Amino acid sequence: MSGSRRPDIRPEGGPAGQIQKIQAPRGTQDVLPEAAAAFAVVEATARRILEPAGFQRIETPTFEATDLFARGVGEATDIVQKEMYTFDDAGGRSITLRPEGTAPVCRAYVEHGMQKLPQPVKLWYLSSFYRYEKPQAGRFRQFWQVGVEAIGSADPAVDAEAIALQDALLRELGAREVRLRIGSLGTPQTRAEYRERLQAHLRDNVDRLSAEVAARIELNPLRAFDADDAGTREVMATAPLLLDSLAGEDREHFDEVCALLDAADVAYAIDPTLVRGLDYYARTVFEFSSDVLGAQSALGGGGRYDGLVELIGGPPTPGVGWASGIERMLLARDTPAAVATEVDLFVVFDDGLRQDAFTIVARARQAGRAAQMELAGRSIKGQLKHASRTGARFVAVLRQDGTVLQDTETNDEIPVEGGADGVVAAVLRHMGPGSL
Ligand code: AMP
Repeated sequence: MSGSRRPDIRPEGGPAGQIQKIQAPRGTQDVLPEAAAAFAVVEATARRILEPAGFQRIETPTFEATDLFARGVGEATDIVQKEMYTFDDAGGRSITLRPEGTAPVCRAYVEHGMQKLPQPVKLWYLSSFYRYEKPQAGRFRQFWQVGVEAIGSADPAVDAEAIALQDALLRELGAREVRLRIGSLGTPQTRAEYRERLQAHLRDNVDRLSAEVAARIELNPLRAFDADDAGTREVMATAPLLLDSLAGEDREHFDEVCALLDAADVAYAIDPTLVRGLDYYARTVFEFSSDVLGAQSALGGGGRYDGLVELIGGPPTPGVGWASGIERMLLARDTPAAVATEVDLFVVFDDGLRQDAFTIVARARQAGRAAQMELAGRSIKGQLKHASRTGARFVAVLRQDGTVLQDTETNDEIPVEGGADGVVAAVLRHMGPGSL
């Protein structure tokens, strides 16, 4: 897309001059009311778990300068090479819809001088992200993540705390058959040395590798561990492992993260082949998956990114974080019973009494009660049927010759005097003051 090109906004005519239906773009989905209610549960649960642990909410812009991700996520990654929604805006700047949350949060950390705050600065977000991926079950082009970033401390307790909180979130949301794998990538130096040994192993066996893996030996040899073709897998079975080459402080850091997880009773398996798709990870990496999810089994993951803040122009600053896919967390749990909206009062009325009904609803809402009224011109019979469909506790019936309040729990009919205030007072007498 080019900044100078303007979209054609004329409606498209079909063959018979009919306007064609417009559908949501491929890979996107409408969050319909039932799903929105489930999203709200995720948000409330995340807040309840993360905020008492000192994480504060942050939201960054939906789009950023393309360079943030090119540098922060890494030129060689699948995300930057193939999956970004990038375009020039009308001012000629290259803009990208955020494909992930860590680089933007680190940018905000630097931009707002958060290194002057007590460290680590602990932030959480719940946002939508955009990747041009092949849509399939559990994989979308716009998807939602809840995530945390703890920036400013290299202490292994920060890693372990973050992992334990992600574990708690998945547990609390009822995700089934969850497994946690953890590993360590060491520091960039250990990784660079290891990378050369791995490249040598891949080159020695190049004729057994898939074409894609063979083409990426120089650019991204670690990705060979992710391949699923038989030839590459055989070669990788005898490949040197990064975890075996961890030494000194890297080894101590990893051992301490594991010991802290043991101390908090978080179950995990050490996976020496764990690779994460993003370039910026150093030391701890981890991934939660669920066996009930099928091919797209990753529920969420993260790791330590000690070089990232510096890479995007800030001072050398360690950090660790994770993100969990909201759609996948919801797919991995048993479907809970739908929670119906509670209605305290529904107002049914005869012709000519719409304004009275409207006043009652407004006053009831001011008094903190959930109130609704007829909005579709139904007959009185139809209105009563609809009122009962909403599950309203009280139904006010306004007729030219008087108003009656029906208590749907006891089936009592209470005559009401005193107009709108009388109706609301009667409801409050029975239900107590509202709390909306
Ligand atoms: P990542 O940022 O790639 O580590 O992703 C973290 C989590 O977000 C994954 O474990 C998934 O649960 C979720 N996720 C990533 N990409 C997508 C996608 N295209 N559609 C839906 N969920 C995704």
